[in-house]
Amino acid sequence: MRAMVLEAVRGPLRAMELPLSRPAPGQVLIQVRACGICRTDLHVVDGELDHPKLPLVLGHEVVGNITEKGERVECLAVGDRVGVPWLGWTCEVCRYCQSGRENLCDQARFTGYQIDGGYAEHAVADHRYVFTVPSEYGDAEAAPLLCAGLIGYRALVMAGEARRLGLYGFGAAAHIIVQVARHQDRRVFAFTRPGDTAGQEFARELGAVWAGSSEESPPEELDAAILFAPVGSLVPLALRAVARGGTVVCAGIHMSDIPAFPYRLLWGERTIRSVANLTRRNGEEFLALAPQVPVRTAVETFALEDANEALTRLRTGRIQGAAVLVPG
Ligand SMILES: [Zn+2]
Ligand SMILES: [Zn+2]
Repeated sequence: MRAMVLEAVRGPLRAMELPLSRPAPGQVLIQVRACGICRTDLHVVDGELDHPKLPLVLGHEVVGNITEKGERVECLAVGDRVGVPWLGWTCEVCRYCQSGRENLCDQARFTGYQIDGGYAEHAVADHRYVFTVPSEYGDAEAAPLLCAGLIGYRALVMAGEARRLGLYGFGAAAHIIVQVARHQDRRVFAFTRPGDTAGQEFARELGAVWAGSSEESPPEELDAAILFAPVGSLVPLALRAVARGGTVVCAGIHMSDIPAFPYRLLWGERTIRSVANLTRRNGEEFLALAPQVPVRTAVETFALEDANEALTRLRTGRIQGAAVLVPG
């Protein structure tokens, strides 16, 4: 099979021909139809996440059809369309797994990080961690739901009942979550990189009541803010923008250092919290909700071989919505 392979951190991906894996017991082999590109993929490439499997096939927003089943896979059939998310395996026995927090599992393994992912023509996944993809979506349109959507949704849940919600960084996740938030009668304030007027316009088109630069103050206080941009200096800015009792949710897996800030920004029972990974329950809830909203994803597709170009465009903020690889 053709695959784009990361051989060493900070290197480019290399187009390679890899032997086709066979599914072990409990696994399924999937023909990849589309694989979304996530900001986390750049953190892996840049060596900002410890100990990736190397060489590695990135990609944890995989949509494809099952072409072969290993032993003991009974609830899925060859031909079924499934989605493979970031959470690839958990131990099911640690105190986190036993308390509904498998996202924090001591031994969790993640797709496109410790397990080969979907920047390839085929991928192997543990059948217990794949989702059925809602039939309303095409393959490429569904791909961003599997991380940008799922983890964005978990972050939105962590924002609690906030009616006035700030979204910092208007990329793949925010363009989905603004639609869900609006569906829930929340008012969204979108913050982009300074000067990104196209991004601000995109946010308003999707229902944000206000859009501006992350350095600006919103026209009114926020009840919560979600940071999708991996920029630590946004934390004090977001704290400044939220009202007393408000929450700042950091949704990314990696962030540059948070600068020191005066305690009075946190005072008034403001909270800062991170969101780590996802549970299968988050996935089931979100994939049931998305077609009801209905969430529409804006995708820009790239050939598998153009993965490096797609990553560069994502890095420099030149993707509107989500980038998705489509193996021809
Ligand atoms: Zn566990
Ligand atoms: Zn992701």
